[in-house]
Order: sequence, then C-alpha cells, then structure tokens
Amino acid sequence: MMYQSTRDHRLAASSTRAVLDGIAPDGGLYILDDLSSLEFDWRSVLEEDTMEMSARILAALLPDFPEMSALVRRGYEGKFETDELTPLVGVGDRYVLELFRGPTSAFKDVALSLLPRLITAARDAEGMTDEIVILTATSGDTGKAALEGFHDVAGTRIIVFYPHGGVSAVQQAQMTTQQGNNVCVCAVRGNFDDAQTGVKNIFAACADRDLNGAQLSSANSINIGRLAPQIVYYFKAYADLLHSGRIKLGQPVHYVVPTGNFGDILAGYFAKLLGLPVGKLVCASNANNVLTDFIETGVYDKRRPFHKTTSPSMDILVSSNLERLLYLLSGCDNEYVANLMAQLRDNGCYQVSDALLQRLRADFACGCCDDAEAAEVIAQVWKESCYLMDPHTAVAWAVSQRFMESRSDDAPVVVLSTASPYKFPAAVLSALGETPDEDEFAVMDRLHEVTGVAVPKNLASLREMEVRHTDVIDREEMLEYVLRKVGEKQW
Ligand SMILES: *Cc1c(COP(=O)(O)O)cnc(C)c1O
Repeated sequence: MMYQSTRDHRLAASSTRAVLDGIAPDGGLYILDDLSSLEFDWRSVLEEDTMEMSARILAALLPDFPEMSALVRRGYEGKFETDELTPLVGVGDRYVLELFRGPTSAFKDVALSLLPRLITAARDAEGMTDEIVILTATSGDTGKAALEGFHDVAGTRIIVFYPHGGVSAVQQAQMTTQQGNNVCVCAVRGNFDDAQTGVKNIFAACADRDLNGAQLSSANSINIGRLAPQIVYYFKAYADLLHSGRIKLGQPVHYVVPTGNFGDILAGYFAKLLGLPVGKLVCASNANNVLTDFIETGVYDKRRPFHKTTSPSMDILVSSNLERLLYLLSGCDNEYVANLMAQLRDNGCYQVSDALLQRLRADFACGCCDDAEAAEVIAQVWKESCYLMDPHTAVAWAVSQRFMESRSDDAPVVVLSTASPYKFPAAVLSALGETPDEDEFAVMDRLHEVTGVAVPKNLASLREMEVRHTDVIDREEMLEYVLRKVGEKQW
C-alpha cells in the first residue's frame, strides 16, 4: 500500500517516506486512494483505551512503522492532563470535545506530541543516519506545540521563526522560554507571511546543498504524520457517547469543527472513510469565510480581503488540506486536482464540477461567524452553562447553533474545542464585559478571578520562566542564520 501525490500518481511513497518528506516532490500532498479498503475493524477499536485506539488507527494508516503502540505511548504519556487525552464534556444540549488538554493548551498538541516519534521512527526504518532539522514558521500556536514536541528528541533539532511583534505576549513567552538542548527560536522582522516565505525559500535553496549530515524537514500540517493522529479523537468522542448510552452502535454523530487549514476536519472525513458513523462534518469559519462560500457554491475564491480576527488560527485564505478532499471526491483524479491547484495559483480561484459539489455536500455542512457573534457566544454559554470557551470554539458553537436549527434529525452534536480560553484571555475577558489590561498575564489573572476556571499550569508558570531565546533577524538573513545554526555542534 503506497501513498501517492494528489497531483501525480507516479509519485508514490511508503508511509515512512511520506512522513519524512512531508510534501510530495511536485507540491502535491501524499494520500491513500481507498481508506475504506484498509484492514481495519472500526467497531472493535471503540472498545480500546485512547492510547490503544490511537495505535490501532495509526498502524492502519501508516503500516510501515514498527511498534506503533510503543511510539504512541512514548509520544503522549505524562504530557496531557488526562490519559484519555481529549475529554468529551456535555454543555447544554450538545457536547464539547476538548482538544486543548495537552502541554501547550492548543489542539495542535495532539498531533505534534506524536510527530517527532513518527519522524525518528521513519528515519530509522528508511535506514537514514542524518540528523533531522525541523524548520517552522509560526503565527503563534504551531511553533510552541512543535517546540514542545521536538525538544530533547534524539536525532532531531528544531528552529522556529515567528514574526517580531506579531504574536501575543503569552505566545511569545511560551516560545522564548522553551527549554531543551536542540531548540532554537528566532524572531523575524516582518509579518507571518514573510517568515513563512523565508522558510519556503530556505527549503528550496537547500534542496541540493550538502548540510553536513543534516536533513531539513517540516512540521507543517500537510504532513500525513500530523493528520493521522487527529483521526483518533473522532473515534474517542464516538466511543464516549456509545459507552454512556447516548447512542447505539451505528447511529450517526455530527461534528462541528473550527477550521483553518482544513486538517482537523479532514481527519474527521478520514474517520468516516474508516467506517465511523460520522453524520455531517460542519466546517465553521470566522470572517475569513472562503470555505463557507466554497461549500455553498463550489467556487473557491481567495481574492478577498484578509481579516484579522479574535480567532487568529483560523485566519487563512488558502486551506492546504482541502486538496486532499478534492482528490478523494473527484474519484482520485490527479489531473483534475493538479488543474484546480494550477488555477488557484494563477488566477486565485477555481470552480469544481456539480457532481463533486454534490458529493461534498452529502458529507459536509458549513457556516461562519464574525468576532462580535463569537463574543456573544462566549458570554451566553458562560452565563447559561458556566462553560468558558475560547474564540475559536465560540465560532464553532455559533455555527453549530444554526446547524441544529436547520437539521432534521436528533443525533448528538459534538463541537470540537481547539484552544484553552487562557490562550486568548483578552478576547475572552472582553466578551465577558470587562476591559482587559495591557499586560496579558494580568488579563489571565483577572479572567481567573472573574470565572474561577483554572489556569492551565503550562501558562500559569510562564511568567517565572527564564527567557532563553532572544535572536531577532531581518528576513533576508534567514537562510544564513539556518546554515550557521546547522553548522554549530552545540546549541
Ligand atoms: C490550527 C488551529 C485551528 C485550525 O485547524 P486546521 O486543522 O488548520 O483547520 C483551529 N483552532 C485553533 C486554536 C488552532 O490552533
């Protein structure tokens, strides 16, 4: 069973290769053609604990990795607030799936706790001896989650670039205090796009360069090794509803997903292809509602204003992982997908066929919500249910409300919660009617005073931690910086 590029069938790779390379050589994404034909018994998986569930699902998708159970345990053990990793909580007439109970209080921890284990195991399986150097540009959340996942993992080093002055004070403190002897964090004068473009240019510039026993790699969400671990919590939530007697085996469950790059929600679609009775996957967007328009009309058009919102991790106009869905819905037609992606690159838009749009709408629903409505939701859910949610989760909650009013069944609705409210304390506190202080740590304290909700330990302890990373460079210096760092024996 081989992975293939969404744009060219001839570019095939083992699952270990696909994880090591991240992206296919033609810029396409690695994918399996037919998940439903995998040897995988979805019913028996529901009886396992979360770790074993994860091991079974990952072993089915990534069959070239030996000892998946051990990898999973080493990746997660002791890092999350609970061994079930992602608790399901009843809130009002629906459920919240809490994906933020990991080491950095963001849902990206679920995948990035495991990815370093997958990458080093893939390296061993492929007989590679090079050190892996992870390069990441971050707008805030990914960088910290990646640092936390890779620090002190033997055979790897990680360099994170973030926009100077472009992340929140808490996010900056999370990254600049990172411990570990294989981590490097550097601010770049410019915005996130500058940092991201800089990283892409470094990959291109280093493609044919000998890096003295080091190989560059990426922790980006297009890596199948980041997508696969996210399938697990769809199963876990279903198992919880089953075991609590809320549903019978086989009955559908709807999932509402706050969406940016389309990785999280695509993992839900993979769960469905593996057999899980997923009802609708509801794609929730903020004011950057390019996906809402796409799912409603079949036209993807990124030529529109970019909005900076209170849910910044969803401020995205090109959702990379959508390419994988287009591939599957087109019946694995790689020429069709390559053509759409070329149109997006050249014209900024494309339109899918009516047949594809129909298939899309059979499995997906959508909706969007602006900052003002998200703030109302935070206040309302707090008042009615004493449940405090972050702005990303609030976007999904608002969309789930409209979905529930329009649907015709009474299947359970699960809202995925992607961040702790304490990661976005200013937006949450003002939603509750207070004017936040300039100092973000003071805002955290105030939010705790007002709500009594516990501050996650990793965020509460930040203030006392020593700042270890102070480099600031111009974007033109990024390549030189990486080459110099890679050349240093000791960081
Ligand atoms: C990354 C992120 C998202 C979006 O997830 P995608 O997989 O990119 O769709 C939503 N919420 C938060 C808090 C995130 O960090």
